[in-house]
Amino acid sequence: MSAAVKIEDVRVPLGEDFPEIRASVRRICGNFPGAYWRDLEAREAYPAEFVKALTEAGYLAALIPEEYGGVGLPLRAAAVILEEIHASGCNAGACHAQMYIMGTLLRHGSAEQKSRYLPQIARGELRLQAFGVTEPTTGTDTTKLKTRAVREGDHYVIHGQKVWTSRALHSDLMLLLARTTPLDQVKRKTEGLSVFLLDIGACRGKGLEIRPLKAMVNHNTTEVFFDGARVPAENLIGEEGKGFRYILDGINAERILVASEAIGDARWFTKTAVAYAKQRIVFDRPIGQNQGIQFPIARAHAETEAADLLLRKAAALFEAGLPCGDDTNMAKMLAADASWHAGEACMQTHGGFGYAREYDVERKWRETRLFQIAPISTNLVLAYIGEHILGMPRSY
Ligand SMILES: Cc1cc2nc3c(=O)[nH]c(=O)nc-3n(C[C@H](O)[C@H](O)[C@H](O)COP(=O)(O)OP(=O)(O)OC[C@H]3O[C@@H](n4cnc5c(N)ncnc54)[C@H](O)[C@@H]3O)c2cc1C
Repeated sequence: MSAAVKIEDVRVPLGEDFPEIRASVRRICGNFPGAYWRDLEAREAYPAEFVKALTEAGYLAALIPEEYGGVGLPLRAAAVILEEIHASGCNAGACHAQMYIMGTLLRHGSAEQKSRYLPQIARGELRLQAFGVTEPTTGTDTTKLKTRAVREGDHYVIHGQKVWTSRALHSDLMLLLARTTPLDQVKRKTEGLSVFLLDIGACRGKGLEIRPLKAMVNHNTTEVFFDGARVPAENLIGEEGKGFRYILDGINAERILVASEAIGDARWFTKTAVAYAKQRIVFDRPIGQNQGIQFPIARAHAETEAADLLLRKAAALFEAGLPCGDDTNMAKMLAADASWHAGEACMQTHGGFGYAREYDVERKWRETRLFQIAPISTNLVLAYIGEHILGMPRSY
């Protein structure tokens, strides 16, 4: 049974708040109001202008070290960027993956791979936005994934299928997890998986097909089919067979960043609900005067503050290189719950107008529901807490 690391024991400060970054991100987001996102959704289009603005401001290269042309900021700064994007009513789903996928390349890529790709990514000339892990038949049971990569000379030949590979049609590169040694030939199921940096443009039409997947939110997500796509062996990241560990290494960063988006959503919902509750008059008084309206918003606010504190602790531990899995998982779940409760309160506060597209409440409500499922579902976090933190028997 592992006790969560206590912040006072390790004397890690809770991290900076980066007020200048917050203000600057808010300014950029001001140019992308609700109407922009509604129009994109109607056309199922990618927010290219929004991504360009963030790239030009250097925010998508926040975590790339300065030696590769990035800004070299800590994870907490990236979390603040994503939180502010969501608190401003925008959505970072179109580009957030670049922040955490890049970590796998940075930590485990060769010097040659890093100097070839990272500066181009930092300059916005290459997009590393697609992350191919989830498969249709195996879901959360990642080590059973069926996509195979077989070495043939100086290439790996890929066969298989991915699902929910977001942004694959808007990315130049995909970080792909595939099995290089069959499951029945490895000692542990986590072995024999490898990570590749796949050049989408070079492979499309040559054993790689990408089809848009219509979804409840405008997440530009896709199904990806591999039928003999060839990836140069030099695009293998790190050692063959160690890919699952490389992906796990990046998972805490991913969860901290996604939880920050949930916190941002929660703040947008609370602010929007409070404004409407004060201004909407029914039965000759503001609806916010009724406890039935006021209390769910107040509760969601308290939940958001609590989740944010745990999230800051997780980010501080991550930065300090200390074990952060327990706090990261709990913070991700609590942030997702806080945003969902805030979304529900905001929706209910708006009554029928919550359903009107022009208020953006229903869009944000649909968007924030995702955090209960991806990148890790609530049940799987609870299973982690039960088993790894509380020491109860493994439930699956
Ligand atoms: C909009 C969107 C974008 C996404 N983008 C990406 C992406 O870019 N790249 C990528 O690789 N993936 C992506 N995903 C996939 C996402 O990470 C998965 O959907 C998520 O991890 C859950 O996996 P699954 O859908 O296969 O659910 P399953 O694994 O099939 O689980 C279904 C349900 O059963 C529950 N469950 C399963 N096993 C247990 C158990 N042992 N105990 C209790 N409950 C259990 C789960 O909690 C879940 O609620 C995206 C998904 C969506 C919806």
